[in-house]
Amino acid sequence: MATALAIIAVAISIAALSVSIWTALINRRNAVAAEDSAVSARLAAEAAKESARHSEKSSESAAVVAHAETQRDHRALRPEPPLQESMLRRKHNSRTHVSGRFLVFTPQRTFRVAGDALIGESRRPLSLGPVIEGGREVEVYLDEGARGPQVEAVNLRFWPALAGDPGEEWACQCGRNTDPSGSPHWEWAITIPPQRKPSAVF
Ligand SMILES: [Zn+2]
Repeated sequence: MATALAIIAVAISIAALSVSIWTALINRRNAVAAEDSAVSARLAAEAAKESARHSEKSSESAAVVAHAETQRDHRALRPEPPLQESMLRRKHNSRTHVSGRFLVFTPQRTFRVAGDALIGESRRPLSLGPVIEGGREVEVYLDEGARGPQVEAVNLRFWPALAGDPGEEWACQCGRNTDPSGSPHWEWAITIPPQRKPSAVF
């Protein structure tokens, strides 16, 4: 009888042990699963962060590319300066009987323009603009021959044409001022060669 009881007791304790082992196993599995899901959540968060970084980087590089493109377009739209050999013209004024010098050039497109003549330390505005039309020759008065003060250089400042100006509509997207009174998109600094004094005629 005692033996039978002992056997039952052992059987019960074995059963209890296996239940507790089973419980431990399940707990452990749950713990592993929880750990796994924490890991995968962390991985997902990292991936999201990485992709945010990527899209930030790619939008940054898109902005850099766009900026480079507008600057390249800006350079391409620059008005072509005239050739030194053909930029000056001398014309006789039948009213004043003096011959004047003129700067001559033909812009490829319509521009807004302003300019100054430099004589020594002084600077006077050139009589041109505010609009010069594409394909049309521009003739800007400089000075009166070799007797008077001679223009040594000219500074011309250019802006894109404004809506309503003659010629084909165009724009420069570089971000510089479109208002012709602000700082220009393009500038020419042209040195005007000195004139020879007229030699005395005997
Ligand atoms: Zn520009």
